[in-house]
Amino acid sequence: MALRKIRIMGDDKLEKVCRPVKTVTGREKELIQDMLDTMYDANGVGLAAPQVGVLKRIVVIDIGDGPVVLINPEILETSGEQTGQEGCLSLPGQAGIVTRPNYVKVRALNENGEEYEVEGTELLARAICHECDHLDGIMYVRYVEGGLFDVNEEETDEE
Ligand code: ZN
Repeated sequence: MALRKIRIMGDDKLEKVCRPVKTVTGREKELIQDMLDTMYDANGVGLAAPQVGVLKRIVVIDIGDGPVVLINPEILETSGEQTGQEGCLSLPGQAGIVTRPNYVKVRALNENGEEYEVEGTELLARAICHECDHLDGIMYVRYVEGGLFDVNEEETDEE
């Protein structure tokens, strides 16, 4: 288990467009394992590679149903709308209200380099959108309605 340092908003790695992964090698697998360890250690529900300073299109998500690994994710379909609280491990202790699609379908590679599709609603849909945004250098604060507010870190889902 190896924890990586989570970059905090203001770090320029969080503002860059990440590169697609050409082949999933041992290096990517190690990064993915470290990202999962780091996400669980921080009690997060999602983490994108740029949040640990690596500009590759890789995200990990676990909303409580087990890990989801998305390499080179591409959102194929969205529908509906949900408005709710969102936080980010790169902005600890704060949250804001963000409107996202209520359903998302994404195509990606898994940790073995195999193409697959993931469908999510509610929190999973929110997490997929939030993490995919990180790969394009976008922080959720851009979408916050009504400003950020302080939260108890123990009680909130952070991505
Ligand atoms: Zn985030």
